[in-house]
Amino acid sequence: MINDRVQATIRELEEKGDLSAASAAVPPEAPSAVRAGREKVEKMSAEVVDDNPYSRLMALQRMGIVEDYEKVREKTVAVVGVGGVGSVAAEMLTRCGVGRLLLYDYDSVELANMNRLFFRPEQAGMTKVDAAKQTLEGINPDVAIEGFGFSITTMSGYERFVQSITGGDGPGGSRVDLILSCVDNYEARISINQACLELGQTWMESGVSEDAVSGHIQVVEPGRTACFECVPPLVVASGVDEKTLKREGVCAASLPTTMGMVAGMLVQNSLKYLLKFGRVTPYLGYSALTDFFPTMEILPNPGCSNSLCCKRQKEYQERKAAEGPEEEVEEEEAPLHEENEWGISVGGEEGEEAAAGEGGGVGGGQALPEGLQFAMPAREERDAAFLDENAVEVGENDSLDDLRAQLEGLNSGQ
Ligand SMILES: [Zn+2]
Repeated sequence: MINDRVQATIRELEEKGDLSAASAAVPPEAPSAVRAGREKVEKMSAEVVDDNPYSRLMALQRMGIVEDYEKVREKTVAVVGVGGVGSVAAEMLTRCGVGRLLLYDYDSVELANMNRLFFRPEQAGMTKVDAAKQTLEGINPDVAIEGFGFSITTMSGYERFVQSITGGDGPGGSRVDLILSCVDNYEARISINQACLELGQTWMESGVSEDAVSGHIQVVEPGRTACFECVPPLVVASGVDEKTLKREGVCAASLPTTMGMVAGMLVQNSLKYLLKFGRVTPYLGYSALTDFFPTMEILPNPGCSNSLCCKRQKEYQERKAAEGPEEEVEEEEAPLHEENEWGISVGGEEGEEAAAGEGGGVGGGQALPEGLQFAMPAREERDAAFLDENAVEVGENDSLDDLRAQLEGLNSGQ
């Protein structure tokens, strides 16, 4: 009969004319620890007590899913783009107790973002990086969070990006275990791709379609998998007839559901990659309208237009040859058979071309499984169009020549 007591208290206070005190009197006294957040935890404990923030995660280890969960504290993850996918991915990693998070975004929180998860209306106007840092540090003070509020697609921004990833140690000295691309544009993905090719850094790409009903994640490991420039970006067919889709005068649509799912797929794959459990998916798509999850392997293109990618491919082949053939069989074949469970097959006329490749992967003109399509034509066809298109979006201070020079710099693979 707590309610009766509360009601009686309110009545009593109302009679006294002291309503402001009523709200304070209603909830039972909250433990001070709840209001003040929590202290840092020195070591992750598996102890099953209510005030242990890691008991449910350490249970993964006790159940034999993850061999050594606490290793997550040694991991550094960079999240580029703290929007609808990146902010949620960052929160998941924070709650999972990742050691260090590097957040990149030059944008500010707007009320127009409130259909998505994570940011709150009172944070409108703050930079996304500052707002995210504030929230995430409150959730888990054990995670060291660094924020970077610049665009990685400008010349200087790209340099600062590489420097922040290497900690100033130069190429080959990456201090991060994984980079997550949660950006919404092609240029930024090209910048991440270039930096990762330079550093030999594994990254995961993610994307959500403009109509908000499909998305994908993709692992990019320089030399071993296709880089972002090996083949045109792969997207999941949303099942919407392009001819009937109304785009004019409409901004990109977004749903917290699709973005949350893509963030979940991305961080699930990241945890599997970082903590070495389960199968790290090379590519996973999601179509909301048909509940379709295509998966596939994307092989590197030996004729990739990025020369640095070709160099990394050669290095990988040499490494593999030195390791001997046995491991290679295990690594390459295991994932591919699982694909059939989803009814995906490499077929059609293009399948003949694909026969030369290993087991239905895509790279260098191979065929796509049903439900996946390229987001754009092959590089040669789109280069000219890309430059023209992007010239329209250039900032006031950039000339067209600047942009061209910048793109050439990124593409030459130096
Ligand atoms: Zn490539």
